[in-house]
Amino acid sequence: MLLIVNAGSSSLKLKVFEGAEEMARATVSEIGADGHLEAMALGLAKAGVAVDRLTAAAHRVVHGGADLTATCRVTPQVLRQIADCVPLAPLHNPANLVGIQAVAALAPELPQYAAFDTAFHATNPEVATTYALPLEERQRGLRRYGFHGISYAALVRVLRARGELPERLLACHLGNGCSMAAIVNGRSVATTMGYSPLDGLTMGTRTGGIDGNAVLRLAELHGIERAGRILNRESGLLALGGSNDLRSLHAAGTAEARFALDHFTYWAVRHAGSMVAAMGGLDAVVFTGGIGENDPWVRKEILSGLRFLGVSSDPSANDRNEITLHDPTSRVAIWIVPADEERQIALEAQAVMAGEGA
Ligand code: ADP
Repeated sequence: MLLIVNAGSSSLKLKVFEGAEEMARATVSEIGADGHLEAMALGLAKAGVAVDRLTAAAHRVVHGGADLTATCRVTPQVLRQIADCVPLAPLHNPANLVGIQAVAALAPELPQYAAFDTAFHATNPEVATTYALPLEERQRGLRRYGFHGISYAALVRVLRARGELPERLLACHLGNGCSMAAIVNGRSVATTMGYSPLDGLTMGTRTGGIDGNAVLRLAELHGIERAGRILNRESGLLALGGSNDLRSLHAAGTAEARFALDHFTYWAVRHAGSMVAAMGGLDAVVFTGGIGENDPWVRKEILSGLRFLGVSSDPSANDRNEITLHDPTSRVAIWIVPADEERQIALEAQAVMAGEGA
C-alpha cells in the first residue's frame, strides 16, 4: 500500500492507494507549529492504516526548482534540493519537508518519493520562463516556474486514456489557487503562474498579476512581510467582494461581490487569450478544481469570452456540470475533468518504483 501525503502548513491530507485504487483517506487540520509527527500518526490511525502495511510513501512537494523536474525517490540529496527551494516557496516547501520527516520518523526504512507541482512546466521554452532581468539576478533562480503541474499531468493522463487528448489544450485549474496552462500534445508550453503562485488570474486571496512597482510601493509602505501577506492572503476575491468562496459571492448579491466575480472572469478570459496565442490556436478547453468543476456561471462567462475562437457550449450541459460541455457546432471541445492529484502522484511514484525494480 502506497501512502500519498499532501502536507500543508496547518493541515495534512493523506490517501492510501493499492495500485490505482484509493483504499482510504484522512485529513488532519489545525496542526500547530510542531505537531506534524502527531498529526501523521493521527491521520494514519483515522485512515485505519498500520505503518507496517505501507510499502512506500509519496509526497506532494510544491516547488522543485530548476532541477527537480520529475517524480523521484527522496534521497538525502533530493531532501537538500527541496530545502534549497524553501526561499522559492516559503509558505509550502517547509511543510512538505516536515511531512517527509514525519513519515521517516514513523517508518525509517520506508522508501519515500516526491512529486513536484512545478515539474510539468519544465517543458516551457526559455522565452516563456525567463524574466528580462540582469543576468546576475536571473542566476538567483528568479524565473517563471508555474504550478498546479500535478493537476495538469492528471488531466492529460485522463484525456489521453480516453483517446481525446487534443493538439492544443487550454487547461484551467480553478480552485483556491487559479491558473491556466497551454498544453501542446500533452506538454506544457506556457502557464499563468510564475516565480510563485501569485501571478496570473485573480484568486481567492491572491491578487494575480500585479506590476512589480506596485509591489515595491506596498513593501515601502508596510514592510516586506506585511506586503507579502497583503498580496497572498488578503487580496483577490476576498478583497474585492468580501469572500474568497465563489458560492458566498454568488449568494451575496452586493455590487462588490458582483464586481469581484466580473474581475475574476474578465482576467480569466484575458489570460486564456495569452495561453491560446502561445499555442497558435485552440482545439479544446478543460476545467478542473473546485470552481472549474462546480461553478456553471464562471465557466459560462469564460467560454462566452472565448466565442471568437469557435468555442460554443451547451448551456444545459454546463448547468448540470456534465463531463462534455461543447455543443455540436463548437469547433473546440470543452470538458470537465475532476481534479485527481493524489492518484497522479500514486501512479507516478509507482512508475518510478517499477523502474527501480527493473
Ligand atoms: P484547492 O485549490 O485548495 O484544492 P479546491 O479546488 O477545492 O481548492 O477549490 C476550492 C474553491 O472552489 C472554493 O473556495 C470555492 O470558491 C469553490 N467551490 C467549491 N465548490 C463549489 C461550488 N459548488 N460552486 C462554486 N464554487 C465552488
